[in-house]
Amino acid sequence: MSNERKLVTVTVDGVQVQVPETFTILAAGNKAGVHIPTLCYLKDVSDIGSCRVCSVEVEGASALQPACKTRVTDGMVVHTDTELVKQYRKLMLQLVLADHGLDSTNYCFSCAKNGACELQALCRELDVTESAFAPSTPAKREPVLEDNPFLAYDPNLCIRCQRCVGACNNRAHNHTLTTGKRGLRTSILAPFGPDWKSTECESCGNCAAACPTGAITEKRRREYRSWEVTRTRTTCPHCAVGCQMDLVAKDGRIVDVEPAWGPSNRGMLCVKGRSGSFDFVHAEDRLTTPLIKNAETGEFEPASWDEALDLVASKFAQIRDENGGDALAAFACSRSTNEDVYMLMKMARTVFKTNNVDNCARV
Ligand code: SF4
Ligand code: SF4
Ligand code: SF4
Repeated sequence: MSNERKLVTVTVDGVQVQVPETFTILAAGNKAGVHIPTLCYLKDVSDIGSCRVCSVEVEGASALQPACKTRVTDGMVVHTDTELVKQYRKLMLQLVLADHGLDSTNYCFSCAKNGACELQALCRELDVTESAFAPSTPAKREPVLEDNPFLAYDPNLCIRCQRCVGACNNRAHNHTLTTGKRGLRTSILAPFGPDWKSTECESCGNCAAACPTGAITEKRRREYRSWEVTRTRTTCPHCAVGCQMDLVAKDGRIVDVEPAWGPSNRGMLCVKGRSGSFDFVHAEDRLTTPLIKNAETGEFEPASWDEALDLVASKFAQIRDENGGDALAAFACSRSTNEDVYMLMKMARTVFKTNNVDNCARV
């Protein structure tokens, strides 16, 4: 029997569960329905165990254990809600807050992530309103990098959780983000400065989606707050991968895209899906009616759908009749439904009289 299948019995806050021995306490807690707060941890992205906010008491252990890094053992008894755990988590969160730094220039109200910031939410959950520790951020604010057209990096807000590094390396497999020294401070070297075009960054934004704070953000987040918007689940209009996403709308206009957990994208998007899939909806020069070119003036003029379809059908029939069916080909869009693609194939074979059929999902 593989390790994956060997089950052990764990008790979390009095709830007994059987889980694979490869599980962490955090995963066992999830199975037991016990909420354990996390900050630097992001499933399948990063588990460096640096923030210690998920610490729990394990009976028999000499110290608190980080739930995201500690494997379960058979008979383990875990307590997640003791006074010691609560005080320790608060202390750890205050250290993170000192790293984040809050002052008159670095302020939740003006941050693009206000309302969607995990650090903010965790401070509320753990009742942390200020830090007992001196800020570890440099006295002089570091410049915000925003030469990338879609993304900005504010190192002053970075808590060095490395979720962005995990997203770029382990999920996007781009290996563009690293950690490095900025003066005395270890920081994230995000490629959004003046030389961003010479980096391997694809502007996919998966790092911004993974960032729990306002450090790496999509610039368009500055245009709305999370409580002002509605979300509609849809499929990316671009390629055959068919990534699932939510269109984010404010006052009837699409202002952003967020990845959803679809079977083919699992919370990821590429740059086209994230940043090229909605601006055209509100474009001033978007075509909203068919246009037919006036043969005399050479200008396109608005037409009805019936007029346009009749014209196209007659032209296809003319080509087929004068040159034979193989003068035509049907090439279907990968974002069409199976049914539409099937119809196009049928039309090509039975009406155009050609077997020249293909689909761009194949390439
Ligand atoms: S935008 Fe994508 S490729 Fe660029 S640093 Fe972020 S995750 Fe990496
Ligand atoms: S940029 Fe965001 S995700 Fe990356 S280390 Fe800083 S806070 Fe964490
Ligand atoms: S997000 Fe990118 S990979 Fe996904 S369907 Fe859209 S274009 Fe394709």
